[in-house]
Amino acid sequence: MAEKLSAVKGMNDILPPESARWEWLEDKVRSLMARHAYRNIRTPIVESTPLFVRGLGEVTDIVEKEMYSFEDKLNGEHLTLRPENTAGVVRAVAEHSMLYDGGKRLYYMGPMFRHERPQRGRYRQFHQIGAEALGFVGPDVDAEIILLAHALWKELGLTDVRLEINSLGQPEERKQHRARLIAHLEAHADKLDEDARRRLHSNPLRILDSKNPAMQPVVEAAPKLIDFLGEASLAHFEGLKAMLDANGVAYRINPRLVRGMDYYNLSVFEFITESLGAQGTICAGGRYDYLIEQVGGKAAPAVGWALGVERVLELLKEQEVAVPPAALDAYAVVPDAAAMPQVMRTLQTLRAAGVSVQMHCATAEGMGSMKSQFKKADASGARFALIFGADELAQGEVTVKSLRDGAGEQVRRGLATARDWAVTLQSKA
Ligand code: ATP
Ligand code: MG
Repeated sequence: MAEKLSAVKGMNDILPPESARWEWLEDKVRSLMARHAYRNIRTPIVESTPLFVRGLGEVTDIVEKEMYSFEDKLNGEHLTLRPENTAGVVRAVAEHSMLYDGGKRLYYMGPMFRHERPQRGRYRQFHQIGAEALGFVGPDVDAEIILLAHALWKELGLTDVRLEINSLGQPEERKQHRARLIAHLEAHADKLDEDARRRLHSNPLRILDSKNPAMQPVVEAAPKLIDFLGEASLAHFEGLKAMLDANGVAYRINPRLVRGMDYYNLSVFEFITESLGAQGTICAGGRYDYLIEQVGGKAAPAVGWALGVERVLELLKEQEVAVPPAALDAYAVVPDAAAMPQVMRTLQTLRAAGVSVQMHCATAEGMGSMKSQFKKADASGARFALIFGADELAQGEVTVKSLRDGAGEQVRRGLATARDWAVTLQSKA
């Protein structure tokens, strides 16, 4: 036998029945996005490397050490598997001049790639669902997009998800804060770890985000960005807070909340749970008014968030939210394989009418006894068995036997009229 191959470390297969939970979540998201007038966008998984280097910033975890970048062997292009999708969306929006007739509300779902140390809630291929609103300046759309995520937790049945918000102000305000922050950190240089020392002059804001317990006293005493905000930035923040208040959405202001990517300004936020240990941030985002320009588009304001699908699914499990398994209406029991052509015609009619039905198929051992076929019908979770026996077929009929409620009850139905009785097999009928 050939050597057994396995999936790449940190990249997971998503198999049934687990995949039914993914589809359930995706369906909920699609419906919610539609109700908020967010439209689906699908961008390529591979983008040119400079898009992320310029978009995310050179001194970020992602660009410094997490990207899967490679050179196209055929033409030498520098390419990267997308580590996030905001940069790709912004590129597409600029490339297709999508804002020419006004703002756009968009959402995406799909795999992202980051070379991190795999652990619970942290993978190398993981999945994000994201919402982006481009072309709108006010705190109203910041509130809308936060309310959208909040509504999602509610519809999924999740509890104990806390919202933290902050304002990063504008670049000019950050510059003033930055000078004071560097001075403060330099005064305590002996207490900084290696990461912090390296970032002291390139990305000092990120040091505030450090989880190193030894650095907490220095970080806590650091000058707060919020104290450097001007009138307009403060008004934006107050506007957002008022709209969250009016909607009964609880939040905590976390002055140390900064985001991993350089592109954020004004509102930033995270949804956090205590139920998932260290990987407790299930959704994060903020405003990024300067990103489009940075990747070569015409300047336009924007705000968005991305949620980690694996973390949300893990939280659903943790909180024991019931997710309906894939449902099956009927299982076709076929004693004699010779009947197959006729059986399949009936099954296709039923399927076209909305019935989910699994057909019994031969294995290497043949079709199997009636008993073993019924066992499979039971195990399939179907609510009905359709028995295509010789007796039935001779009369142009099939026996419909209930396997669940009122188990054992059976009726004969005509094959020619399958379209008419199909409805009696459907749980939604
Ligand atoms: P973290 O601090 O946990 O590394 P991040 O700031 O890098 O998160 P973002 O880039 O903001 O994360 O991505 C948004 C969301 O995507 C995160 O809140 C998280 O739920 C999810 N996420 C990020 N990286 C991973 C990963 N490697 N595996 C699984 N989910 C992830
Ligand atoms: Mg990260």
